[in-house]
Amino acid sequence: MSSTQNKNMTNMVVEDLMIPAEKVAHVQMGNPLEHALLVLVKSGYSAVPVLDASFKLQGTIGKTIILNGILGLERFEMEKLSVATVHEVMNTDIPCLSKEDDFLTALKAVIDYPFVCVADQQGYFDGIVTRRAILKQLNKNLHASKYSTETEMITEKI
Ligand code: AMP
Repeated sequence: MSSTQNKNMTNMVVEDLMIPAEKVAHVQMGNPLEHALLVLVKSGYSAVPVLDASFKLQGTIGKTIILNGILGLERFEMEKLSVATVHEVMNTDIPCLSKEDDFLTALKAVIDYPFVCVADQQGYFDGIVTRRAILKQLNKNLHASKYSTETEMITEKI
């Protein structure tokens, strides 16, 4: 990889790559599980961020964790969907990035997660970075790098 392209990619920060908060589907801590499931099924997302009333990031919730939450001994207790709330089952052990983090930090963070939340120092939600966005950028840079190496080799031969 040439140094210019290397610089381009590694100079990027999370803010350049993230989906901003206003475009991210989310649920609130006090929402019933039924609402969260509806948001997930209708949006097609496997998980979404959970925010509190002041828009601070509190965790994430996904379809699997909801189904586990209503799983009884022998059956899914569907009646729990309208009684139990998001904060009872949500995942609070999540990684978090800040808008100023660099590309390599974001790349490392999405190795184990399809998306990672972005929040400021006070915990206010800024958006998400998806593994797709990181891979897309990586792919772009690797292809550009391959093209410029090939061009350099041809130019050297001339
Ligand atoms: P994608 O890379 O677009 O397949 O997204 C991976 C995951 O990131 C999705 O399954 C969702 O859990 C989450 N995600 C992506 N975009 C959004 C969005 N606009 N709102 C909420 N969650 C999202």
